[in-house]
Parts: sequence; structure tokens; C-alpha cells
Amino acid sequence: MRMLPDLTSRLNAARAWIGLGVLAPLGLLVVSGLMLVDLRNDAWDKAAQTSRNLLQVIERDIARNVEIVDLSLRGAVDNLAAPGFSAVGPALRQLILFDRAVTARDMGVFLVVDENGDTVYDANAVPARPLSNADRSYFRAHRDRPDLGLFISEPMTSRMLGVPIIVLSRRINKPDGSFGGVVQASLKLTYFSRLFANLALGAKGAINLYARDGRRIMRHPFFEGAIGDSVAASPSFQRFVREGSGSFLGSAVRSTEPRHHTFTRIGDLPLILAVTLAPDEIDAEWRAKALVIGSIVSILCGLCAGLSLLFGRELRHRGRMQVELARLSLTDPLTGLPNRRRFEEALADVERSGRSGGAPFSLLVIDADHFKAVNDRHGHAVGDEVLQGLARCLLASARHPGDLVCRVGGEEFVMLLAGTDGAGAQRVADAVHAEVRRLGLPAAGIPAGALTVSIGLASTASVRAGARGARELYRVADAALYAAKGSGRNRTCIGPPWSACAPGEGAPGAQADAA
Ligand code: GH3
Ligand code: MG
Ligand code: MG
Repeated sequence: MRMLPDLTSRLNAARAWIGLGVLAPLGLLVVSGLMLVDLRNDAWDKAAQTSRNLLQVIERDIARNVEIVDLSLRGAVDNLAAPGFSAVGPALRQLILFDRAVTARDMGVFLVVDENGDTVYDANAVPARPLSNADRSYFRAHRDRPDLGLFISEPMTSRMLGVPIIVLSRRINKPDGSFGGVVQASLKLTYFSRLFANLALGAKGAINLYARDGRRIMRHPFFEGAIGDSVAASPSFQRFVREGSGSFLGSAVRSTEPRHHTFTRIGDLPLILAVTLAPDEIDAEWRAKALVIGSIVSILCGLCAGLSLLFGRELRHRGRMQVELARLSLTDPLTGLPNRRRFEEALADVERSGRSGGAPFSLLVIDADHFKAVNDRHGHAVGDEVLQGLARCLLASARHPGDLVCRVGGEEFVMLLAGTDGAGAQRVADAVHAEVRRLGLPAAGIPAGALTVSIGLASTASVRAGARGARELYRVADAALYAAKGSGRNRTCIGPPWSACAPGEGAPGAQADAA
């Protein structure tokens, strides 16, 4: 049937639309997913870069200031050993010792202490303010190790100033190389807090300055308890020491919370500076963007998929409707048989396939006898029932799968019998007469045997050569029907020759006509 390829192509089109409607959003999702991943990587790269830049600036500042203080310490050590130093008076000695000493805002005190830890020179007072530093870590460290060089102490509270400081110190050697005391300068921790002030590192972010041994010198944001404690045991801090500089995602030095660390050593000094950021804060801006983009893309994808599904469903529905319409347009509503259009199509198919020239093929044209009288006597509704009954009789008579029974006019039917020769067609015609003979509508007052049909038969075998086209065969069968009507009805006429008319057995008309 012609409608089947139509249906298939429509279903394929519907499937294609659904496929497209699912694939396109999937593609969109993949692309936006990749874009979001890229955006996130950018956010992390930006955070790492910002941390690196920050560290670089701060590291330079600290290195430069420590270097300046160290130069002053070295100057004082050198001047102590200068020839004639002990020969001058105390005021001049102080001037010689501390002439290169820095007097910056955050500098604390600048002192020389002897091998017992007692102050002997003081940059700010002559004579030196008395104080013992013998118990201080830096004093003991220099006393015990001649090669210590510059020593940077842990944070402590200044005994003279009462503020938190770190002490930078160098050892003084006596001419014989033995311990002769310490030159020391204190740096107030306010230096670092001012340096770190105004850094926006998020609510959980921080910048820390550690001594190489793990003691925390300063933290921003500042809190008292953090200063001076040791993080030496933290795996993250151990990585700072091991790698010198870099960045990585690890745990916080004081907890197991994830943190992004960027760290660097300050020059050659035993100091480590680290910026720590919280991953959720690095992601915060990206997450807001991802939420907006993700929502829009998801809505678009959902809409696209939904519309495609609806569109596909509509296409399928229309396809089914068209198939149904096509079926209805080829069906007779009263009897449910194929109608004249379908018959014409079948005839054209037979002609196209050339089957009329090959395998035998026959046509029966069947017309109810005196049907007008049935209508007139019993009414149109009964007439319709009779037509339905006739349709059943014809269907019961056509037993081959290739047989096609059509209603081609008011009370006119056609049977197209493919692969059936004249003798076979005659047998079908006889079966029709027999079936019709059994048809009755007792309720309407039509007994069995009251109805008859006339049949015109034409077969490719009996029609002369050259006139075997299917349409020609139809005309011959129609003429045979006319002959059957003319020779008394209730019979089958084979055309040509028209003389071959066989009356339907047992019918009243047949008796009369046969007589
Ligand atoms: P003949 O034996 O020569 O064929 O006589 P007839 O009365 O059967 O033929 P005629 O062509 O004179 O009348 C056919 C009648 O069939 C006329 C029409 O009212 C009736 N008819 C056609 N279609 C229908 C239908 O669908 N339902 C009913 N009830 N009657 C129909
Ligand atoms: Mg008739
Ligand atoms: Mg008729």
C-alpha cells in the first residue's frame, strides 16, 4: 500500500526530530560544561597568580628591611673591633657603633650586650639602659654556635618597650674567637601588621609569616594566639620548607580543612611567607556565574528537548491521522469494503505490474437485481442492511489472499481475482450466487432466496489477445453484466462470447430465465 512508505518516512522524520531535540541540548550541555570547567580553572589560576604577586611584593619589602637592619648589625660588629674604638669616650663610641643604625618607625631598640647578656651599648641612651638578655633564645643560640650569622628570634615581648617584637642579632667574637656578646636590633611586629593590613583574602584566607623552624611570627588577619605557636608538624608547612616556593591544594596548617597555599622563602633568610585561600571562596564568584549559566542552559535544554518531544509526538500523531484518513478515503463507510478509488488503484497496479499479460487474472462485476424495488418496499435502511449482507456474501466467496472485493457504486460490487483463470472465476461467481441465496433479512420480511445478483465475468484467458489490459477487462466484465441483466438477471455472463451465461441455480429469476 502506498500509505506505508509515507508513514515510515513520517515516523523517521519524527524520530529524527526527537533525536535532534535530545542531541542538540546534550551538545549544548557538554559545551557549557566544558566552558564552566574552563571558567573554574581560570578562577583558580587567577587566585594563584594574585597570591604569587602579593607574596612577591611583601617578600621584597621584608627582605629589604631585614637586609638594612642586618647591615646595621654588621656595622656595629665591625665598629666594635675597629682600632682605637675603646680609646674614645662613651658618647663617641655610641655614635661610632650606631651611626649606620636604622631609626625606622617600627624599629625597637638597638643594643650591644656582653658575654653575660648585660647591655653595654644602647642606640638610644648613654649610658646604656641596664638589662639582662642572658635568658633570651638568641643570646643562648649565639653563645652556643659561633657560625650562626644573622639570627631571627621567635616573637617575644620587648622588655624595654613592652610591645611584641622579633629580635635580629649577630654574634660578637673576642679577638681570640670566643663569645663576646651579641649585637641585637628589635623589629616591632607592627611592621608586619602594617605591611599586611588592607589585604583582602576572604573570610577564611590568611597570610602568614613563619620562621623556618615552624614558629609563626605574624598572621593576618591577626589574632593573639596564633603568634609564636609552632606549625612545624603540619604536612603543609613541611611542604613549604621542602619546596621553597610554589602553590598547592592541601589542608590548613592548623586543621584538616582544605586550603590553597601559595608560599615562598624570603630571600636567603630563614623566613617563609604563605598566602592561604579557602577553595570555596576561590570558587564563590565562579559558582554564582555557573549557577546562572547552568540554570539558563538547563532551561534552554529542557525547553528544546520538551519542544522536540512535543513536535515529534505531533508529527507521529499527524502521520497516524493521515494514514487513517488515507485508509478512510479508500474505504466504503457502509460496508467497510475498499471503495471505487481503491479499486481503480488496484486496477492501475495490475496494469503497471503487467500481471494481466502474465499470470491469469479475472474480474467479477456484481450488481444487485431489482434493488430499487427492495428500497421502495422495505425502506432505505433495510436496503443498506441488504448491501452489508451482500458485502459479507462476496467476502465469504473470495478465499484467495490476493482477491480484492470492492463496492464501486450504489449496489454494484467488483471482485478482482489475481491469479485466477476463467474457470476459477466461474467457481467464485457460483459461490457468490450460492451465498446470496442464503442471505435473508427475516426481521425486515426478506426471506432467504428473495435476493439475487447478476454477475459479469471477464478473464484474461477468455478475452482476445491485444485486449488484455486490466481496464479493457473491466469494460468486458461490465458488458457481460449488462448481458446478464439483459438475459434475465440472477446469472453470470462471461464476456465474450455473451452466450455463455450461467443462471444462478435455484433463484426464482433463474427459473424464469432458464425456461
Ligand atoms: P437492476 O436489476 O436493473 O440492477 O435494477 P435495480 O433496481 O437494482 O437498479 P437501479 O440502477 O434502477 O437502481 C439502483 C438502486 O440502488 C437505486 C438506488 O436508490 C439504490 N441505491 C444506490 N445506493 C444505495 C445505498 O447506498 N443504499 C440504499 N439503500 N440504496 C441504494
Ligand atoms: Mg441493480
Ligand atoms: Mg446498478
